Amino acid sequence: MKGFAMLSINKVGWIEKEKPVAGPYDAIVRPLAVSPCTSDIHTVFEGALGDRHDMLLGHEAVGVIDEVGSEVKDFKVGDRVIVPAITPDWRSLEVQAGFPQHSGGMLAGWKFSNFKDGVFAEYFHVNDADMNLALMPDDMSLESAVMITDMMTTGFHGAELANIQMGSSVVVIGIGAVGLMAIAGAKLRGAGRIIAVGSRPICIEAANFYGATDIVNYKTGDIAKQIMALTKGKGVDRVIIAGGTPETLIQAVTIVKPGGVVSNVNYHGKGDFLPIPRLEWGCGMAHKTIVGGLCPGGRLRMEMLIDLVKYNRVDLSRLVTHVYHGFDKMEEALLTMKVKSKDLIKPVVII
Ligand code: NDP
Ligand code: ZN
Repeated sequence: MKGFAMLSINKVGWIEKEKPVAGPYDAIVRPLAVSPCTSDIHTVFEGALGDRHDMLLGHEAVGVIDEVGSEVKDFKVGDRVIVPAITPDWRSLEVQAGFPQHSGGMLAGWKFSNFKDGVFAEYFHVNDADMNLALMPDDMSLESAVMITDMMTTGFHGAELANIQMGSSVVVIGIGAVGLMAIAGAKLRGAGRIIAVGSRPICIEAANFYGATDIVNYKTGDIAKQIMALTKGKGVDRVIIAGGTPETLIQAVTIVKPGGVVSNVNYHGKGDFLPIPRLEWGCGMAHKTIVGGLCPGGRLRMEMLIDLVKYNRVDLSRLVTHVYHGFDKMEEALLTMKVKSKDLIKPVVII
């Protein structure tokens, strides 16, 4: 079969691979729609996972089941399914400890385009199909369905990790698709003021749509200064980091109040260390929690997010700005994500 791969750092291309085979609990899926992720860009062009050779890219897909293993009970050939970016091994001690994302080792629940080939292929393999797939509602658009697999679960996880309370003041740093979903998640959890940090007008418009009350442009001055001025020197209860650089962590710790939470879902792809500002962190005694996490995957998570869309709590259509048609458009879509033109939030390829 054909697939679109990372050939080495900075190099991508089409390659031939063996079609994967389903083990007893697994499924083989033929993609109907895929979307490149900013993480694919970190992987290929920043070498965030080290040098990988001939690894098929992509971890955001919805598709049709082509084959199921003998022990799969709830899905059959021909079912249209949403496939989470994170597909844990549900028989693992990490799951018993409450962290399926790390089943089998740190971050090992993230298998596509990391521990195994990704979804930019004619077919891809899904481990533990009964536990990792979710049926796609018939009336859901492919564009919206594919946004659930990673963007929605990640942004919402940012809001969950931030432990937002009714009326919490929240800053969301970065308003690409992940940050926009963090805004939507913060609003659903009852945030009061939501200050969004970005620069591109298309994202600012979407941030307002999803619930931002204030906008700060990181290109027009230090965001910590701007946010301290907006909050009359008090800072905010919660900060969600969904974009930026290591310095963003300094700004986040600076603007969060004592007792507050900095929740990071940004992928820090470079350098050996991340900075924490000593004084702003109360010399270690400010009760300012810093937490970061990989998005939850698995079937139940997908089904719960599907309900939020189905019952009109969240409208995902605003995330998708570019729609390509045809398997051969994957390269163009990926490169669009690298360049991030002024009018781009997320591209989707309909196959
Ligand atoms: P985007 O690149 O679309 O968005 C990044 C956002 O950060 C943009 O709004 C950008 O603003 C803003 N930004 C860039 N530089 C700065 C800065 N110095 N200070 C403040 N804001 C800045 O990314 P995505 O939304 O697709 O993804 C966000 C991150 O989440 C990525 O690192 C991605 O890899 C990661 N991720 C993590 C997952 C997880 O499980 N934890 C899963 C999926 C993704 P502008 O565009 O206006 O310049
Ligand atoms: Zn991703």
